[in-house]
Amino acid sequence: MTATTARVLAGPPAAAALLAETAARARRLPTPPHLALVRLGEDPASMSYVRGKDRKAREVGLRSTVYALPETTSQDELLALIARLNADDGVNGLLVQLPLPAHVDEEAVLHAIDPRKDVDGFHPANVGALWAGRPTLTPCTPAGVMALLAHYGLPVAGQRAVIVGRSHIVGRPMAALLLNADATVTVAHSRTRDLAAVTREADLLIAAVGRAHLLTPDMVKPGATVVDVGINRVSGGPEGKTSLTGDVHPDVAAVAGALTPVPGGVGPMTIAQLLANTVTAAERQQAEG
Ligand code: NAD
Repeated sequence: MTATTARVLAGPPAAAALLAETAARARRLPTPPHLALVRLGEDPASMSYVRGKDRKAREVGLRSTVYALPETTSQDELLALIARLNADDGVNGLLVQLPLPAHVDEEAVLHAIDPRKDVDGFHPANVGALWAGRPTLTPCTPAGVMALLAHYGLPVAGQRAVIVGRSHIVGRPMAALLLNADATVTVAHSRTRDLAAVTREADLLIAAVGRAHLLTPDMVKPGATVVDVGINRVSGGPEGKTSLTGDVHPDVAAVAGALTPVPGGVGPMTIAQLLANTVTAAERQQAEG
C-alpha cells in the first residue's frame, strides 16, 4: 500500500486571488479606501503585524495611516483618538492592534469603534449581525479561512465541522460563519471531554488552540479537510532558533485529505481579508452617502 499525503492548501495563492479582487473593488470607488491602524507600545509582534498590514494595504492601492502611540498612552487618550477617527469621513476602516497594555480596558476600546468602521469585526453590533446570519464586517482570520476553502473548492454545506477553540477572535466567529454556510457545527474547547472522539467526527476540522501539535493523526477522520489556524513558536530549530508550527501534528498529512501548512496557510489570508473588509466598509459608507 502506498502512503497518501494530504493535498496542501497553500495560503499565498488564495491570498493573492483575494488581494487582486480587493484591489479591483477598491479601484471602482471614487477615492481609495483609507485604513487607520492604531497601536500602543513597542511589542515586537504587534509592531510587525501593523507593519505588514500597512504595507499590504498600500500594495493593493488602499490608503493607510499608522498611529503608533507610546505604551503610556492613557485609555482616555486612546478613546479620544478613536472618537476623532470615528468622526473623520476620510477614514473608512479603523483597527486597534491587540493585545493592549494592561492599563487599557480592551473591551471599552473595541466597543468605542464605530461598527461601520470596525474592520476587525469585534464590535458587539457586528458580532450580533454575524450570529443573526446577516454578516456585516466579519473577523478576519475565520473569514479568511472561508475564503481559503472557497478558493480550493472545498465543500462546506452539509459537512460535519468541528472547531477546536472558542475564542472571540477565531473559534466563535468561525462557528458562526460555518453555520451560516450550512455546515453542521461543533465547537470543542479546553473543557471538552474526549476531544479525539469529537474531532474524529469531523469532515472539516479547524484547529484554533495555540498548542503545538495538539491534534495527532488518531484524532482525524481519514480524508478530512484540516485547517490549522494555530501559530506556535517552538525552540529547537537550526542553531537554536525558534520556528513556527501549528496546532496540527505533521503526521496528520498521512490521514487528512487536505491540510493547511504553518506557516503559509491561514496566516496570509488574515491580512488579505482585513483589506477586503476595509473595502467592504468603504463601499457601504459610500452607499449610505
Ligand atoms: P485563545 O488562547 O484565545 O483561545 C484558545 C482556545 O483553545 C480556547 O477557547 C480554549 O478553550 C481552547 N483550548 C485550550 N487548550 C485546549 C485543549 N487542550 N483542548 C481543546 N481546546 C483547548 O487563542 P486564539 O486567539 O483563538 O488563537 C488560537 C491560535 O490561533 C493561536 O496559536 C494563535 O496564535 C493563532 N492565530 C492565528 C491567526 C492567523 O492569522 N493565522 C490569527 C489569530 C490567531
